[in-house]
Amino acid sequence: MFPAPTLDRMLPFVLLVEDDPVIGRSLEQALTPQGYRVTVAPHAAAARASVHNDAPDLVLLDLGLPDADGIDLCRELRAACPTTSIIVLTARQEEADIVVGLDAGADDYVTKPFRLAELMARVRAHLRQPKVDPDLDQIEVGALRIDVPARRAWIGADELALRPREHDLLVLLASEHGRVITRERIMEEVWDENWYGSTKTLDVHVSSLRRKLGGDTQLRVPRIVALPRVGYRMDLS
Ligand code: CA
Repeated sequence: MFPAPTLDRMLPFVLLVEDDPVIGRSLEQALTPQGYRVTVAPHAAAARASVHNDAPDLVLLDLGLPDADGIDLCRELRAACPTTSIIVLTARQEEADIVVGLDAGADDYVTKPFRLAELMARVRAHLRQPKVDPDLDQIEVGALRIDVPARRAWIGADELALRPREHDLLVLLASEHGRVITRERIMEEVWDENWYGSTKTLDVHVSSLRRKLGGDTQLRVPRIVALPRVGYRMDLS
């Protein structure tokens, strides 16, 4: 007998870290028919074990967990799975908590109580295949080199560990380096045309990209320049 085909393994894998069984069950029931493979982890220990077995494509992470601080767990998951999208679910509506979550490596957040339709739209936006311009192949800006189809980027000989949206943002800025790209256009092209979350997510991604590009003085590393309220531009100094 041949083993049963594991078609299931090809579905996008969503890890749902949620201790409230009612929310956990309703999200699982909403996600599964959309073609996602869902594992529910009711506490941090289960989330760690799941990630250890199989890196998820996306994590929905409730910050209020019984056995760990959600922010700490977010940091751990980010370190363990550098390219996984993490959406934080939080009842903490204070801006400061949201910024801490994004700084801890989350890609996005949804505050509780949330509308299921909104959450599903965010999940789709983070899991959708990026729009790749077929004319873009290799981009070079100073010491930065991007292999667009392979979704890989280097500064000199060092490869950058980029999350999916960081990569898309880098490609957009680099492909039109020297020109300002408006916030609206970035949100539309890198996130989703129907995006209705906060654009703070964009600023956090830019900060993270700046850190990853670094400031190697031996190399001509491009800089990401902010034009307040307008947008961003990649410059080569
Ligand atoms: Ca909770």
